[in-house]
Amino acid sequence: MKLAKRLLKIPVLIIGILAAGYLASFVIRKISVIKEQAILQTIHFKIYYKGILNSEAENISKSLEENYSRIRTELNDPEHDTISVFVHSTQKEFNAATGLMDSKANGVSRGPKIFHLMYQTWYNSIFPARMEQVAVHEFTHCVQLNILIEDAKTKYGELDNIEFDKRFEAEFAEYPQWFWEALCDYEANIVNKSSVNYAIKKQPTLKDLNKSNQIYNLGHTIVDYMVTAYGKDKIPDFIKSYGDFEKVLQVKEQDFEQGWKKFVEEKY
Ligand SMILES: [Zn+2]
Repeated sequence: MKLAKRLLKIPVLIIGILAAGYLASFVIRKISVIKEQAILQTIHFKIYYKGILNSEAENISKSLEENYSRIRTELNDPEHDTISVFVHSTQKEFNAATGLMDSKANGVSRGPKIFHLMYQTWYNSIFPARMEQVAVHEFTHCVQLNILIEDAKTKYGELDNIEFDKRFEAEFAEYPQWFWEALCDYEANIVNKSSVNYAIKKQPTLKDLNKSNQIYNLGHTIVDYMVTAYGKDKIPDFIKSYGDFEKVLQVKEQDFEQGWKKFVEEKY
């Protein structure tokens, strides 16, 4: 009986030590984070942050600069101004700044020159994302949008701003949502084998993925297949064509889907 009692004390002790460790690191973080808004300016980005560590803002800026030229070259992005990045440390601040209601998102782009991040840590999220990758994901949205807007300017000809916005918004509503997200996860290298295997079991079509969160589990693999089977150089035209399979890849969407599913089965 005494031995059983003693044995029972061990897990209680371990849990106690872990809880104390968690609490101590939480307090240390609370003391160390930046209290007033700070700005980190790099060559191509201006990062506004508060409630995170200086080193975390630096890691985001490093990841963005390291991927900047590669992504813009691969996607054939025309001229691109400095991009402003707003980093928030609470969901409430993120939602207020972005105008999103009850959002649980950890990032959102607002046009080709702005994106916001909700900085996830073990203290505000159950499974925090790697924010350096989320930043590259959002940056890729900015690049896609910049390409589409610049292309629209040549296509539409002379239009005043109001007319341009109206026409572009209507056209952009037709941009395939699955590709909008898939390309960002591909460029940011966001992929997890077990999530891929879980999501592919339901055999979704690309159209299903326009309206499903499973795009975040499968997105990387779709573009991986596109690049492997058709070549990286097809991606810029695929963006500008609003995802026209037959025109750019000379394949029917259903045949592409079949090829992709076979590719996932073999590779993942
Ligand atoms: Zn996204």
